[in-house]
Amino acid sequence: MSDHIQHYEVIVLGLGAMGSAVMYELSQSKIQCLGIEQFTPIHDLGSSHGQTRVIRKAYFEHPDYVPLVLESYKFWEKYEKEFGVELLVKCGLFTSTDLDHPVYQGSRLSAQKHYVEFEELNQIDLAVKFPSFSFFDQKFALYEPSGGYLFAERALECWQKNIHEKYATLQFEEKVQNIEPESSKVTVTTNKNIYSCDQLIVCAGAWAKKFIPHVPLQAYRMTYHVFEHDDAKDIPIFFFNTPKNNWLYGFPPIDGKMKIAYHNVHEPCDPDTVNRFVQQKEIESIYEEARAYLPKLGKHVFSKVCLYTMTPDEHFIVCKCSKYNNINIAAGFSGHGFKFSPVVARALVDLATQGKSIYPIEFLHSDRFSN
Ligand SMILES: Cc1cc2nc3c(=O)[nH]c(=O)nc-3n(C[C@H](O)[C@H](O)[C@H](O)COP(=O)(O)OP(=O)(O)OC[C@H]3O[C@@H](n4cnc5c(N)ncnc54)[C@H](O)[C@@H]3O)c2cc1C
Repeated sequence: MSDHIQHYEVIVLGLGAMGSAVMYELSQSKIQCLGIEQFTPIHDLGSSHGQTRVIRKAYFEHPDYVPLVLESYKFWEKYEKEFGVELLVKCGLFTSTDLDHPVYQGSRLSAQKHYVEFEELNQIDLAVKFPSFSFFDQKFALYEPSGGYLFAERALECWQKNIHEKYATLQFEEKVQNIEPESSKVTVTTNKNIYSCDQLIVCAGAWAKKFIPHVPLQAYRMTYHVFEHDDAKDIPIFFFNTPKNNWLYGFPPIDGKMKIAYHNVHEPCDPDTVNRFVQQKEIESIYEEARAYLPKLGKHVFSKVCLYTMTPDEHFIVCKCSKYNNINIAAGFSGHGFKFSPVVARALVDLATQGKSIYPIEFLHSDRFSN
């Protein structure tokens, strides 16, 4: 450990999707910053690994997310130009459930309120438009042509590799052990060094609770699974509300492999001790449900554990800490945060450097839990 305490304008704790995007945006704004990550680059122990993530506009969770996701689409397209790679694939997305289901109603409300293009399809429309599926028990779906997916790990790689090195330093395999906010600075102690900064941004995913104990967060163990499937061109992103009331979703096949997962089948965990082994019965159970809708779903390829960090209301926390003006928080993404990472990153840069953001993020303040 060196005696000299290095000082930065901003330190970012955690380099998953949020932290990597924040570091990229900070360096673009020419702010001297340090990002600290306990694991290696693009590791598979947090919440941001895997090839792909869903992006959609008709946000059933709340219409207030729509302006943010619309901004995110612009960022993803800008990043594609900046990095010269494909990050966003608008393959369309359908959500299949009963018309009176809150997810269906919420999606339609958000779409109508914010003029997002959508179609309401019945069982016959669905069978004609998407012949690779069997809609045996599904009568309706809301289809969003602008929905699609993002190349997730590719995005992290781009942010990390294209960082402006004159302004930004990334430290991997270094674990933050303590943060100490004082009136004029924050001291950050790791297993290797002591640093200080004017502003700290906490992007610690499932580990965030340790650093922001006043915020109600719970980590959950999730799994995703990859099976063989021929590269059928009629498969968009799909969400099915199954007879077991599971939310089963999946992606178009890429190179003969299809990723599927449940959005709502999870168990509370501690990120340091979580069981990272996927059991055969978990694979069989999702295969059985998915195969009913996708008759050509083939052999199992691999499965992985991934972590959700939930808040009690399943909305994010993106704010400046009310108690400490020099701590900024991006946490509790509740299984739907990836698509927002560019706009969350830009909002955090604003919060850390100007104390407020131009983006409408007030509804994501942690104070909503303080009563
Ligand atoms: C299976 C699965 C599917 C998902 N699907 C979607 C989807 O389709 N669409 C969507 O928008 N979102 C989706 N999400 C959610 C989205 O991926 C997450 O919201 C997002 O990736 C969270 O990023 P993060 O940076 O907050 O967390 P993480 O990626 O976990 O990053 C946090 C980082 O902080 C580091 N860290 C923690 N503590 C310390 C410490 N003490 N010292 C140093 N470093 C530390 C961790 O090692 C980690 O790298 C999904 C999530 C999962 C798990």
